[in-house]
Amino acid sequence: MIHPGKALKQVLYSFFRKTATVRYPAVKIDMPEGFRGKLKFYPEKCIGCKMCMRDCPSGAITITKDEQNKFVAEVNLGRCIYCGQCVDSCLKKALELTREFELAQLDSAKLKVVFRALPEQNTK
Ligand code: SF4
Ligand code: SF4
Repeated sequence: MIHPGKALKQVLYSFFRKTATVRYPAVKIDMPEGFRGKLKFYPEKCIGCKMCMRDCPSGAITITKDEQNKFVAEVNLGRCIYCGQCVDSCLKKALELTREFELAQLDSAKLKVVFRALPEQNTK
């Protein structure tokens, strides 16, 4: 049996120390470095090699071209398993995993995210 004095010490220690839990979602939290969240695509860096598409284990990413001949990435966030393989496969660093994690949607169509070049990049 634990000695009452020892137990009291433990209770007081737990009472005054900083809590381990966070008040999410009331308080926003930053995910740690290296967290694998929503993908980001940099069209200006992409060369269209499609290595990301070839290596994606879930077929979640598609690279195409728009009418201005700029590369477009379509990512199905519902299929993506956030493994980071496409990022590793991209030699041009055109893909990046961000720390964004609040991706839930009621409408599954909204899980399809299309990354395009910005209008100013399209006018070059
Ligand atoms: S691997 Fe990189 S450069 Fe190649 S198509 Fe994918 S995003 Fe573009
Ligand atoms: S993170 Fe993994 S599952 Fe998601 S698009 Fe990239 S390779 Fe595919």
